Amino acid sequence: MVNENIRSAEENLLHIYNRFPVALDHGEGVYLYDSEGKQYLDFAAGIGVTGLGYHNKELDDALKAQIDRLCHISNLYYHENCGKAAKALAAASGMDRVFFTNSGAEAIEGALKTARKYAWEKRSGRYEMIAMNHSFHGRTVGAVSVTGHPEYREPFEPLFPGVHFADYNDLDSVKALVSEKTCAIILEPLQGEGGIHPAKQEFMEGIRKICTEQDILMICDEVQCGMGRTGTMFAWQDYGVRPDIMTMAKAIGNGIPVGAFAMTEQVAGHSLKPGDHGTTYGGNPLACMAVCKVLEIFEKENIVEHVKAVGPYLSARLDELTEKTDCILERRGKGLMQGLVLTKPFAEVNLRALEEGLLVLPAEGNVLRLLPPLIIEEKHVDEMIEKLEKILA
Ligand SMILES: *Cc1c(COP(=O)(O)O)cnc(C)c1O
Repeated sequence: MVNENIRSAEENLLHIYNRFPVALDHGEGVYLYDSEGKQYLDFAAGIGVTGLGYHNKELDDALKAQIDRLCHISNLYYHENCGKAAKALAAASGMDRVFFTNSGAEAIEGALKTARKYAWEKRSGRYEMIAMNHSFHGRTVGAVSVTGHPEYREPFEPLFPGVHFADYNDLDSVKALVSEKTCAIILEPLQGEGGIHPAKQEFMEGIRKICTEQDILMICDEVQCGMGRTGTMFAWQDYGVRPDIMTMAKAIGNGIPVGAFAMTEQVAGHSLKPGDHGTTYGGNPLACMAVCKVLEIFEKENIVEHVKAVGPYLSARLDELTEKTDCILERRGKGLMQGLVLTKPFAEVNLRALEEGLLVLPAEGNVLRLLPPLIIEEKHVDEMIEKLEKILA
């Protein structure tokens, strides 16, 4: 790990990532290996992307075959992978219409444009949005505009106008911001970057009710918490409320860059029309092959059921560790999306984790965030706990 070689190899990059001092080379299952062959147990999954882990033969073979056939044609032409991927995502999500993007932020942009267009089509005069404090929706200008961190927004202001921030899990703070100008309310059903905060049942239900009563669109950002991570295919499905628009990315392509926003028929019929939105790469045959195969493997290998089974084991082992470790204040999370609130600085803990061969992530509020591949088994949880015990000792 380390080192000066990485520094000199990086000299032409724009240095705006605080990279960890390790150069990874290849992966197998739930393990990654650095350029010197050292093994790391992966509880980061490329920030929640590689749900199926590394070197999944079925997925890799399908992608290789697709590369040999066709990677790109633009959206001027139809390719069957695109229709199949949309059908599979609609079936998995209960949404009706899907638009493919290249990333999570781009999915958010599409969702915001859809909400604005819906209001415009209805001549409702609505344009304002309500977003949540401590939310994270990506780094493009629209996404930053609804991200609840002043430090991400202020240097780029003035941003997209009419965005108000409420407190997550505080329905009264949302109600106080709703007006006849509100066109959408956007939230993550489980806040990830913001420190691993799951939404309360009454919060999700309350927002749904406000939206339904006032013809406001509810947008769920499932980019991180979606695709099985919390024990249901999409996190909102655990609450019995359906959003009007949802965004996805990260794990839907298992590492091939692909995102999507999806909506109900009702929204689709009154929003984006031909010419309103587009992308050159979005949903190309390679990206859509990734989505099709990932969803096929999810179904065949009962990935969501597996998360439902192994999730409580992870929570229980983390609770035990929290109980007996002075520098952990609290565990929060759901399924395989977990956070430990630390009293030691994360950066220091992370360096020790790298030494011990464990990959973890930070989140806001000095939280150690765990987003393992969804295929982890109890023995990997045990191995991680053993390493964390040493790291935090
Ligand atoms: C990562 C993330 C995004 C942005 O996705 P990118 O692919 O990095 O643009 C948006 N929303 C949430 C909840 C995320 O975790």
